[in-house]
Amino acid sequence: MSSKNTKEFARQLDKEDQLSSYRNEFHIPRDENGNELIYLCGNSLGLQPKQTRAYLDQELTDWAQLGVEGHLQAKNPWMPYHEFLSEGYAKIVGAVKSEVIAMNSLTVNLHLMMVSFYRPEGKKHKIVIEADAFPSDIYAVSSQIKHHGYEPDESLIKIRPREGENALRTEDIAKLIADKGDEIALLMLGGVNYYTGQVFDMKTLTKLAHKEDICVGFDLAHAAGNVKLELHNWNVDFAVWCSYKYLNSGPGSVAGAFIHEKHHKSNLPKFAGWWGHNKENRFKMPDDFEAIESAEGWQLSNPPILSLAAIRASLCIFDEVGMDILIEKSKKLTNYLIELLETLDSDKINIITPDQRGCQVSIQVKKGNKTLFDKITKKGVVADWREPDVIRVAPVPLYNSFTDVYKFYHILASSL
Ligand SMILES: *Cc1c(COP(=O)(O)O)cnc(C)c1O
Repeated sequence: MSSKNTKEFARQLDKEDQLSSYRNEFHIPRDENGNELIYLCGNSLGLQPKQTRAYLDQELTDWAQLGVEGHLQAKNPWMPYHEFLSEGYAKIVGAVKSEVIAMNSLTVNLHLMMVSFYRPEGKKHKIVIEADAFPSDIYAVSSQIKHHGYEPDESLIKIRPREGENALRTEDIAKLIADKGDEIALLMLGGVNYYTGQVFDMKTLTKLAHKEDICVGFDLAHAAGNVKLELHNWNVDFAVWCSYKYLNSGPGSVAGAFIHEKHHKSNLPKFAGWWGHNKENRFKMPDDFEAIESAEGWQLSNPPILSLAAIRASLCIFDEVGMDILIEKSKKLTNYLIELLETLDSDKINIITPDQRGCQVSIQVKKGNKTLFDKITKKGVVADWREPDVIRVAPVPLYNSFTDVYKFYHILASSL
């Protein structure tokens, strides 16, 4: 180890890194003296690709010059603009093109998906979620339960890790599914838990849940662009994600949804809007809604093109690199971080992220000592603090370097 926790060693790893040049494709935030910050917060807001501005400019120019005609005559016509994103999204989540759609925001999509996939009936009315799920997800599932006339106290099962453990065990979720399968209507987990960074075994859980006739959906806010996903092959019913975390598409940018092909022609109930209507006669403005038989059928409105342009700019980079190569670097980068952290005083900090993880590492600070977080922030680290006692850091393989990881470790060590 002693040879690894040096600046020189980190620099050497950067030299060997075939993706190191991608850092130059991003704007790295700086402090007031113009020095680059150590940005480890891509799990919260991904950095801006330098080419994003040109993508936005193109649409602003076409809007200025063409006005409404841009819907058909813009260089990238706005009418089918969302279709330009399907291939990129599909590659990231492991889907076929017709299964993904860029629309709305994450929580809105989660609600729309539950309209179709949370169908409580009789005794089978429960939703399973992680106890430490992101609050918005808990609000969303609870309000859906109430909307159907049930009570979250009765109908929401929040699964917790075992006493003294930080991560959920697949076997414990499996047991819950087997024991209570006849009461559970929907299994809705984060693909990667936002707090601990744990990646769930989505393939196995989907299979087990389906055996009990349970619908399966994942919130991929922390998974899309971070870990390997094969939603189609895993037979997941639906998934939602946002594009502003690992997908680097800008604050509040348009989200994504996946609906498995097998549901496209079904009669599942859905909330409808004109953008989900058959494209052939959408502009004949018929009264009867005729859903497009793909994920596009779940669209409500014509989408914000400027936001989609930012997503396109970002997806270009993902397309060029490919998820497999990205994940390969991600593993090296985060393994290096963990190796370094393991040399630090375990009486003061403790890693709660299990081995099943993407790039995020959650560092529990003993006694909830937030001054440690404040200290590293002052020294140029951008990470985040999650109550009650966790610092989350995410070395993002597209733009973080091994030197970033080393510098973070060095600052943390000297602040303990
Ligand atoms: C970031 C995040 C959200 C955010 O939801 P928005 O609708 O985009 O505001 C929701 N759920 C999870 C798990 C998240 O990590």
